[in-house]
Amino acid sequence: MKKLLLLLITASTTVFAQDNHPNPGYWQQHVDYKMEVTMDVDNFQYSGTQELVYSNNSPDTLNRVFYHLYFNAFQPGSAMDIRLETIEDPDPRMVKSFKSPDGIKKKQSKISKLKPDEIGYLKIKNLKQDGVLLESKVVGTILEVDLAQPLLPGNKTTFTMNFDGQVPVMVRRAGRNSDEGVALSMAQWYPKMAAFDFEGWHPDPYIGREFHGVWGDFDVKLTLDKNYTVGGTGYLQNPNEIGHGYEDEGVKVSVPKKQKDLTWHFIAPNVHDFAWGADPDFIHDKIKGPNDVDLHFFYKNNKEIKENWKKLQPKTVELLAFFNEYIGEYPYKQYSVIQGGDGGMEYAMCTLITGERSLPSLIGVTAHELAHKWFQHVLASNESKHSWFDEGFTSFISDFAVKQIMEKENQEDENPFQSMYNAYYYMVKKGDEQPLSTHADRFDLNRNFGISAYNKGAIFVTQLAYLIGWENTFKSIRRFYHDFKFSHPTPNDFKRSAERVTGAVLDWYLVDWTQTTNTIDYGIKNVTQEGQQAHIELERIGRMPMPIDLVIIYEDESMESFYIPNTLMRWSKENPYPEIPRTILEAWDWAFPTFDIKFDTKGKKIKTVIIDPSQLMADVKNSNNTIEL
Ligand SMILES: [Zn+2]
Repeated sequence: MKKLLLLLITASTTVFAQDNHPNPGYWQQHVDYKMEVTMDVDNFQYSGTQELVYSNNSPDTLNRVFYHLYFNAFQPGSAMDIRLETIEDPDPRMVKSFKSPDGIKKKQSKISKLKPDEIGYLKIKNLKQDGVLLESKVVGTILEVDLAQPLLPGNKTTFTMNFDGQVPVMVRRAGRNSDEGVALSMAQWYPKMAAFDFEGWHPDPYIGREFHGVWGDFDVKLTLDKNYTVGGTGYLQNPNEIGHGYEDEGVKVSVPKKQKDLTWHFIAPNVHDFAWGADPDFIHDKIKGPNDVDLHFFYKNNKEIKENWKKLQPKTVELLAFFNEYIGEYPYKQYSVIQGGDGGMEYAMCTLITGERSLPSLIGVTAHELAHKWFQHVLASNESKHSWFDEGFTSFISDFAVKQIMEKENQEDENPFQSMYNAYYYMVKKGDEQPLSTHADRFDLNRNFGISAYNKGAIFVTQLAYLIGWENTFKSIRRFYHDFKFSHPTPNDFKRSAERVTGAVLDWYLVDWTQTTNTIDYGIKNVTQEGQQAHIELERIGRMPMPIDLVIIYEDESMESFYIPNTLMRWSKENPYPEIPRTILEAWDWAFPTFDIKFDTKGKKIKTVIIDPSQLMADVKNSNNTIEL
């Protein structure tokens, strides 16, 4: 039953991506992995075989390929290590803080201190293309491979290899023996083919930030100590041999006493990554979510956290239903929340999160990582190049969901969006902002990477709601998901979805907001009233043009509003305040620094004039947006 379902998912998505894609001629590579891996839980070393069938759907002939060997980053002297030592604000999870003898606070990369039996590594042996041994070279976290035979467009080739790995002491995302005592957090743990797409190869060295992968089917057999419970990407194929809470109801699984290990067989269709976590003390709960999706929870048998992890489960059901409704249907039949890692990180069909959290924090991180399923795993834009596109949309929708679902439990955050705006304004004030289109690895500061990708990225969406309205914004998200799932869309593709939904022109918005550091600042320069005639003068101070909602409050508390379209948009939105009568004025061309509004007040006296009462427009100077007369 399960197998048939998987086939259907794979078949429909493959056909979909090629035949009905909105961008004619769209293509993407395809990889199918088969791996058999044995883990020694005493020394955290593992060895495995990998067979990878690579389909070249591109118009190019490939003479080289590149594999990621992410675990090599966890070695003294690696690029990740040096970056930690040289960046002004290293990730606190990855450094040790100490005071030098002369009393100065210093930070030291945790990677720089790893001993040989604590580092991470991936070593490749016997790499062959269709049985022919290949030349390859390890450069940091990338394996550069010269092909024996050029791979022509439309052809497939099979790579085989043996690999040995060591799980590093936990520094970032993956590793052994986390602070919360989880034995194995296994992410970025296997030799992974780099992405080749319309922009060419993406063999980015790993310095700890974002990812981009190729879709395919994963068939993974993991052999390890029988006392360990494993959760991860993929559907377990042998639940009644394994047990550990996976077995069918009524089945009693008995493993012979002298048998030391179990071999777990997972199949994951149409994913671009495979992660897992394992621990001998995991509790494993399984509940049903919407559309019969199996939700699995793996957490340490620790009485401090048990209650929160139980309460998290029905909330995860609600979150999944929420995202299904607001984005589109979750296409897999399983999702697992696994205690592990060093914070929260999204992986295919699962997440690794730290588990010793307050309930709001546990639900918040689960909401965020679950929302990534749609953006980072089903849409799967290149999040290294467009970190804001993935993190921004994810942050927006998960904060929105938490706001809806947690109303009672989480009152500390009244307006989930205001804090994002405040963070963005803070960054602008600091004056060291880099454009959102900066490659994730290339932001000078972690602070600005975080504020840009998560907050300014989320404001792209909330501010779009200012431009086209909430209903159109959600329609655009659903249209985008429907049209581009399983096809690595770019920010321009989302912009086109919003344009297709509304008819508005939005290129100027995408360009100014994401490819420049232009800011928005409008001001009310002057308000005069002579008899029946009022005259309001507005000015554009910031570089970025916007349409303007202007609300007038009279002394008798009655109101009216004006909408000044932005010429570039060639479109007017619906009245966002239907209870207030609105006049649509001539559009304001951005080249004009000021704009005059003259109107008849019908004998009423103006009390207050406000630009954008919703404050969804990210105006960096709020003080000139309101005038009290
Ligand atoms: Zn995220």
